[in-house]
Amino acid sequence: MSASAPVRVRFAPSPTGFLHVGGARTALFNWLFARRQGGTLILRIEDTDQNRSTEASVRTILDGLEWLQIAWDEGPFFQSRSLDAHRALARRLLEAGKAYHCFCAPAELDRKREAAEKAGTAWKYDRTCLRLPPEEVRRRLAAGPAAVRFEVPEGTIAWDDLVHGPTAFEGAVIEDIVLLRSDGSPTYNLSVVSDDIDMRVTHVIRGDDHISNTPKQILLYRAAGIEPPRFGHLPLILGTDKKRLSKRHGAVSVTEYRDKGYLPEALFNFLALLGWSPGDGREKMTRQELTDAFSLEAVNKKGAVFDEQKLEWLNSQYINDLPAARIAALVRDDLVAAGLHSPDLDEGGARRDWYLRVIEALKARAKLLGDFPRDLRPFLSDEFDYRPEAVEKHLAGSPQSGGAKTSDPKTGGPKAGGPEAIAARMAALRDALAGTADFTEAGTEQVLRALAEARGEAAAAFIHPLRVALLGTAVSPGVFVILVLIGRDRALRRLDRLIAFLRK
Ligand code: GLU
Repeated sequence: MSASAPVRVRFAPSPTGFLHVGGARTALFNWLFARRQGGTLILRIEDTDQNRSTEASVRTILDGLEWLQIAWDEGPFFQSRSLDAHRALARRLLEAGKAYHCFCAPAELDRKREAAEKAGTAWKYDRTCLRLPPEEVRRRLAAGPAAVRFEVPEGTIAWDDLVHGPTAFEGAVIEDIVLLRSDGSPTYNLSVVSDDIDMRVTHVIRGDDHISNTPKQILLYRAAGIEPPRFGHLPLILGTDKKRLSKRHGAVSVTEYRDKGYLPEALFNFLALLGWSPGDGREKMTRQELTDAFSLEAVNKKGAVFDEQKLEWLNSQYINDLPAARIAALVRDDLVAAGLHSPDLDEGGARRDWYLRVIEALKARAKLLGDFPRDLRPFLSDEFDYRPEAVEKHLAGSPQSGGAKTSDPKTGGPKAGGPEAIAARMAALRDALAGTADFTEAGTEQVLRALAEARGEAAAAFIHPLRVALLGTAVSPGVFVILVLIGRDRALRRLDRLIAFLRK
């Protein structure tokens, strides 16, 4: 391809399963490269393996790309519709004397391979059919089917890989490539080269697992008299144990991440950092920033570790950026499913404003969209449990410490006295909150601190049990914000419930 040819890249998934995060990363890098270069991204579904390709898989791949907003410019094209073009290329190579018919039976080849393996020698097709006389070839063709093989020439096949730099393979170690099987079906390498030629692909960007196909494909281009595209191979994706990412490590499909409550913008950002970085320490980046900064030269040669904690961190950042109304829309179905939704939470509903304030208060701590139904429960229902860790940390007290003076001012926790001491404190707080005229954040905080002060106790010894009473949790956004959002009547009832729990 001449340097000035407009950039054309393709994402070419085989629809034999879900959209793997590695596939999505390949799609994304092609997309970033195309956007950066003002080029075209083609989507080609490589569905020639009739036994393994499914409609459902095509659907999940398209859904996954759409969800991630990786938009393609041309396609989707289905490779199975261009089999005739693939066969025509094989015929051209036959006619040019660069390919030949092979009549060797698969069983015979297996036998030879096994024998070589037993003898400890590397097996490569022995070219039994390479120099058959033309009349013999005609005779055998009339008698039955034949495969077509490409004669791999001697010599070095070298290319300047866009990621790895100068890369070379020796022709001598590559066996003559099967182009057509004896049933006439084209093989992967033939189909890919034929389609990439027809689609005028200028840059092939794909996973490292394809690197050994590249010399074969370059040979086919050369034999067809066409200059090969540029190739760039992306590093494998590894688990945190540095082994190739697999189901063993957890979720590997894009859909699973969507269902777990990740935002598409977070996964998009995360995938862009799998084997690439802007080089200046930035991590959270918008689509535009990623596009502006992206280059294949900056892609790492070594495996990229998939660190789900980093993804979770990015996701929490993106959740925090979302307006509350958007979060409300995203979690609505889950809320309905949890039996927590009511129409007055929807736009125009009586509790809408209050509901958005609740989401606003919760979103800074949320890691996944799936956290919301759980975190919203105590706001939307009186039916919630005290979480074991909250009881353990803030309600169990320590019988021998007894005196409130010795309470740990930081946590108000284990040293905060036994259950009765905590109950007495909460009873006093209940009465103070019932009596205040100013039930605001500042007002309630003032009431609590004044009460603690008057009793010579730490404010924390009140705050932590109060949080457990209101939400059942050991941690939450600021407790006075929560108190006001829960409202006085419900807060008093919840303090009563906690006191009863402590005294039972
Ligand atoms: N269909 C191949 C795959 O899913 C990709 C082919 C290519 O990118 O050349 O692994």
